[in-house]
Amino acid sequence: MHSDSPPLLELRGIHKTFRDKKHGDVQALRGVDLQLRPGHCVGLVGASGSGKSTLARILLNLVAPDCGEILFDREPARVRDPRYRKNVQMIFQDPFASLNPVHTVGHHLTRAASLHRTFDSPGALRDVTVALLRQVGLEPPEEYLEKKPFALSGGQRQRVAIARALAVQPRVLVADEPTSMLDVSMRADVLHLLNELKVTQSLSMLLITHDLASARFLSDQICVIHQGVIVESGQTADVLHHPKHEYTKALLAASPQLPQMN
Ligand code: ADP
Ligand code: MG
Repeated sequence: MHSDSPPLLELRGIHKTFRDKKHGDVQALRGVDLQLRPGHCVGLVGASGSGKSTLARILLNLVAPDCGEILFDREPARVRDPRYRKNVQMIFQDPFASLNPVHTVGHHLTRAASLHRTFDSPGALRDVTVALLRQVGLEPPEEYLEKKPFALSGGQRQRVAIARALAVQPRVLVADEPTSMLDVSMRADVLHLLNELKVTQSLSMLLITHDLASARFLSDQICVIHQGVIVESGQTADVLHHPKHEYTKALLAASPQLPQMN
């Protein structure tokens, strides 16, 4: 995909203030613009409390912005519209919380797959769930179908959450700190999986992270957010090698060795 192709998902002038009479209002987002192109990954990088999850929640229609626009496919997004909801899927930080402990892996995937598609036979639906498990590297798939979330490792659970998001055939994945609750040994694997999906499925991704190393690994572009404002954005290499904003420089200084992950 060319970097000059029109954005698939675009945010314009998003503001959000949380009103709190007791502790004072919090201006979580103050005029955020962001563009996500087809098959590209944007890394939204910032410290805790900078507004990253609020932005994700706005994209997922879990929080309403005070003002600003969301465009999908160059049209005003109707965030409650099933087409939009199908196309923009979320991966949360804590895969355990996002999976239902009483249901099997197979149940999670068949339910998601049949949400927006109909299948001729139970066999066809099963084939799709098996293919999804393969796609996220859970092999042999048959072994995972009957398992419940507690029987899996954190990394495997996050893979199931990713498979569930893919089951509805989205065009955009919003991943909010997808590896920060995983053991260090599994983080790189999950990032590699996301990268593979980005390339093979031509998925657009918004990778939300406080970790510059993950952002560097996966992102074509980086947006640095500080106190609800995107203070710097650009091609990943430009932002990391020639940071312009003081806050980006401070973030870089706080992660002195960005490990090579590829
Ligand atoms: P991040 O994900 O970057 O850590 P958040 O978007 O979660 O940041 O939070 C941004 C700011 O908004 C924080 O100061 C947070 O306390 C505040 N905030 C987030 N959600 C709410 C809410 N529902 N009510 C009040 N304040 C909130
Ligand atoms: Mg957050």
